Amino acid sequence: MSKTYNFYAGPAILPQDVMKKAQNELLDFNHMGLSIMEISHRSKEFTEVIETAETKLRDLLNIPEDYSVLFLQGGASTQFAMIPMNLLQGGTADYINTGAWAKKAIKEAKLFGNVHIAASSEDREFSYIPDRFQFSTDAAYVHLTSNETIGGIQFQTFPDTGDVPLVVDMSSDILSRRLDITRFGLIYAGAQKNMGPAGVTLVIIHRDLIEASADNLTSMLSYRLHAEKKSLYNTPPCFAIYIVKLVLEWIEGLGGLAAVEAFNNEKAAMLYDTIDHSRLYRGTAAEADRSKMNVTFRLSSEDLEAKFIAEAKQAGFVGLKGHRSVGGCRASIYNAMPLEGVKALVEFMRAFEKDNA
Ligand code: PMP
Repeated sequence: MSKTYNFYAGPAILPQDVMKKAQNELLDFNHMGLSIMEISHRSKEFTEVIETAETKLRDLLNIPEDYSVLFLQGGASTQFAMIPMNLLQGGTADYINTGAWAKKAIKEAKLFGNVHIAASSEDREFSYIPDRFQFSTDAAYVHLTSNETIGGIQFQTFPDTGDVPLVVDMSSDILSRRLDITRFGLIYAGAQKNMGPAGVTLVIIHRDLIEASADNLTSMLSYRLHAEKKSLYNTPPCFAIYIVKLVLEWIEGLGGLAAVEAFNNEKAAMLYDTIDHSRLYRGTAAEADRSKMNVTFRLSSEDLEAKFIAEAKQAGFVGLKGHRSVGGCRASIYNAMPLEGVKALVEFMRAFEKDNA
């Protein structure tokens, strides 16, 4: 097999060790002579998988007892609606508008109550994270997107919302750095960037929000029900949860989130440094707000960008095309991207610059 470096934004690279373990166990999980995919979600074996996944998450993120950990379906996009359905109930919520994903969350929330935009970076094409917020006095919650996967901007610190619960979409940077969970009312994330394959969505929610949530909702969209049933109200995405468990064990083996954070900082610095010292590449995000996960950059023309992406692909670097809505280039360097992959990309970028500057 030739070497391919995967820079896709999501679904994205998974750790090789995790893939190998899954491969080894695929036909015979736990000496059962069966795959984890083929057994009941109520079995002793799967119960252990989902419980271990929850315990590992609680350990890694230091999640206090008064938060529930839920493994849901429908992607982060279902959370855009489920949050206001459960928590807004016709009231007002504050949203920080930092890009395409925040906008989608806003669109859904408007169906269930009043949305007040507390800050926006739309004036400069979502190239920065606002640092001034106009919060309403009566907001049910404040919503933000910690990392905009398309724009390549990331909250480095989170605003102080006082007693108002902070609700955060961490789809593209969950488990990439340390977090103080007690600062948040609800965190949600699709698994398919830093946690596992597509199909499972993590929700970490404070008990107070579950208690205050609407009680007239259809079962599958009720946090209360999923919390009561420990994510086993219906058949969960068993295989995806099993892979998440393996990824969490892999993170543990690396030394936890402090080690992962340091490693991610190193990889991002290497790439941004290359961009900053070049005359060909130009970063699109404000320096202070640059994402450590999705590095977005442009070349001097769209033709040259197309050439860069095509030659990169030939050299084994895939997934470098920017999102279709913004164009340009994007290198997604999630937890599982090895340092060696970033080093190789940087070398390729320098060589391309020499030939094309
Ligand atoms: N939020 C962010 C920040 C994302 O990057 C994505 C997907 N790329 C979503 C939400 C939507 O996730 P899903 O496709 O799981 O609904």
